[in-house]
Amino acid sequence: MSISTFAPGRVEILGNHTDYNGGVVLSAALHLGITATGEKLPDGLVELASGDMGNVEKFDRTKGLQRTGQWTDYPLGVAEMLARAGAEAGGFAIRYESTLPTGAGLSSSAALEVATAALLMKLYPFSLSRMEVAKLCRRAENEFVGVNCGLLDQASSVFGLKDHLVFLDCRAESVKNIPLPSHFGLLIINSGVKHALVGGEYNERREQCFEAARHMGVEALRNVTMAQLEAAEMPDLAKRRARHVVGENERVFQAIEALNSGDGELLGTLMTASHRSSMDNFQNSTPELDLLVELAIKQKGCLGARLSGGGFGGAIVALVEMQDADRVLFEVKKTYEAQTHHEAAGYLCRAGDGALPPDGSGA
Ligand code: ADP
Ligand code: MG
Repeated sequence: MSISTFAPGRVEILGNHTDYNGGVVLSAALHLGITATGEKLPDGLVELASGDMGNVEKFDRTKGLQRTGQWTDYPLGVAEMLARAGAEAGGFAIRYESTLPTGAGLSSSAALEVATAALLMKLYPFSLSRMEVAKLCRRAENEFVGVNCGLLDQASSVFGLKDHLVFLDCRAESVKNIPLPSHFGLLIINSGVKHALVGGEYNERREQCFEAARHMGVEALRNVTMAQLEAAEMPDLAKRRARHVVGENERVFQAIEALNSGDGELLGTLMTASHRSSMDNFQNSTPELDLLVELAIKQKGCLGARLSGGGFGGAIVALVEMQDADRVLFEVKKTYEAQTHHEAAGYLCRAGDGALPPDGSGA
């Protein structure tokens, strides 16, 4: 008998480059994601197929698994990490169908991992907490696939909740859902410009954050308030980088307070402030992302916008009134494409449910 599970992609809403500084992030699980449908096979046998990738790929886990560098590394890695956690998934066949655009930075890899884990947990019932599942999927990506990523992608895909944001405390590794008024949509608009120099710039920013923390004598920038940072002696560049991270942590907490008291508008204001800080302090924006944000926030019904993710290209996310969303996208796209000759692919998303329901199994 076939069983299906769905795991969403995610978008970072606030809390940019805070993860490796022990900080806090707000994200949303999207209504777009990956559906995994499958059944049990005899022990050790694995068959994987994806709507996007064609053939059925066959493996025999009893003969030992090697990474192949293909997409199948993600589900095989999940099965491997489950087994290491004592949750041996026997044999299985899975077919995947995706509604996530590829290359838009919406974390299709985490959706693939989490959909796999959620399905295997139904086929071979294990009792693992939701946080254990998120961590195990992250480990599959870090250690089996060989991609270094934080916990945000998998935690968002596991813990999403319709009309809520996901708050992740990267230091405590804890999660909470924060209400988002249902008349808001999340408009994701890709700049169409690839991350050109991501590796080098990303590592340089990380180092500058660690340098700022060393100057302040703290383990991570999470420990620092803006007043303490401004009063500290350190090179100007390190201070500017730290100002972004410390400011992002503060904006996340301000947004949560506002959302908990029903004020959605402040979230938009904080998102735009986040983008300004990316431009001025962290310098991880691009002229294209800046243009998209400027065009978006000029539109009626757009409450705020910012770059989402690592930066240096990729997409923006705008907080919009659902009723105005199509017009906002139309206007931004028209002007952006005329001015830059890059395509601005847009996706109107809602904050949706994660793969695993809040069933009391604990975070
Ligand atoms: P993203 O930001 O979307 O997570 P990644 O590079 O981390 O980008 O992950 C994309 C990879 O995940 C793809 O190259 C592919 O290997 C795998 N993947 C994503 N979606 C699917 C799918 N529907 N079917 C098969 N593999 C997929
Ligand atoms: Mg990914």
